Formats: sequence, C-alpha cells, structure tokens
Amino acid sequence: MKNSFSLDRRKFVKLGTLAATAALLPHAASAQTAPVHKLPALPYAFDALEPHIDARTMEIHHGKHHAAYINNLNIALATAPELAKQPLESLLASLPTVGDEALRATVRNNGGGHWNHDFFWKTLAPAEKSGKPSAELSAAINAAFGSMDAFKKSFGEAATKRFGSGWAWLIVKDGKLKITSTANQDNPAMKGLVPDADLGTPLLGLDVWEHAYYLHYQNRRPDYIAAWWNIVNWPAVSERFKA
Ligand code: MN
Repeated sequence: MKNSFSLDRRKFVKLGTLAATAALLPHAASAQTAPVHKLPALPYAFDALEPHIDARTMEIHHGKHHAAYINNLNIALATAPELAKQPLESLLASLPTVGDEALRATVRNNGGGHWNHDFFWKTLAPAEKSGKPSAELSAAINAAFGSMDAFKKSFGEAATKRFGSGWAWLIVKDGKLKITSTANQDNPAMKGLVPDADLGTPLLGLDVWEHAYYLHYQNRRPDYIAAWWNIVNWPAVSERFKA
C-alpha cells in the first residue's frame, strides 16, 4: 500500500507538472505571432537634446511616429508568422524574397522606420556628452572628405537636397567612408531594395522627415541640420566605425 501511495503521489506530481506545462503552451504558441517588436525606451529624457531638438518634438517623434512604425509592422507580421519569427535585421534582409508586394512594402516602410529610429536615438546625445570622433574616425573623415568641416558641408548638402522625406547617411563602403541619402524609411543596409551605390554599413544617420524638426524649425531644414551637429553621439559613432 505504501508503494502504491508513492506511485499515486508521483503520478499526481507528474500530472501537476504536465498541467503547468500545458498552461504555458498557449503563451508559447502565441509568442510566434504576437507582437514581436517593441518600442525601445529613449536613452535620455525628452528634453535632453534641447535647445537643438525640443522636448515636444522628441515626445511626438518617439512616442507617436516611432511607435506607429512598430505598431504597423506588428499588424503586418501577424499575417506572416514565418516573418514574425525573425529578428528585425534578418527580416529586412529577407525582404527582396517576400513575394507579397503589399506585405513587402509595409514591412519595408515600417520595419525600416523602426530600425532607422532605433539607430537615430542611439546616434544622439545631450550636447555636453556629444564628444568628438575617435582619432581613427577623424583620420578616416579627413582622408575621405579633406576635413571635418568639408565632411559636415557635404553631409549637410545631402540632407538638404534629399527631396521630400528621407535620411542622410555616413556609411562605410568597401572600407571607405561615403555620404549617401535614402528616400522614405529606406536605409543603406537594404540590399536589393536601394541602389547599390547607396549600400554600406551605416555609421551616422540624420532623419530629415518634417516630423523630425517642423514644430521648432518649420521649413528651415538647414537650421535643424546645423543644430543637429551639436547633439551627435560621437563616441557611439566611433564605436560603430571600430566595429
Ligand atoms: Mn522620424
């Protein structure tokens, strides 16, 4: 009797474990299609970049625009479980193979928007923490553009001339620094989607959509670009260059 009691007890414990496992399963199964992308917290306060970018612009840009890209991305991915499983970078890399044109466009715009903004926030820092490019990055900038001032001038021109909405970028391409710009929420890592000439590894990106500056600068995009240099996170950009 003692043995049988032990057996029953073991069975009971085992059943209890199974029940607990089963209780976890619906959660585990839905994790495949549930929203997989979340809004990352800003690495500083909304007002940390003032007076160059105002707090209200940051609050709307992060909490509304960036959040909307993520929300729209998750809605689209709910219809495509095999894409929903992928981390953002491999998802964007696999876009040229996505046959459904509408899905491809939605993921390109909103997945690109998510990636670009996450990158952008990490590219910025309060003015007192902006720092300077590393010696290696400075040397590469001088080699590619002649001087830091010449680099800023060319980058500013690329950002000013980008018609409509888009981004200006500093990239590494074949071991050299290069300035490019992309339309909408495309970026230089989008192989098969953006022209080969604009492809490379992004080091620095500037959002020139009107939502990035209009509240404070209105139509004065060049003023926004000039002020933006004060809040570039040079230590982060230098780390990317090193990597
Ligand atoms: Mn933006």
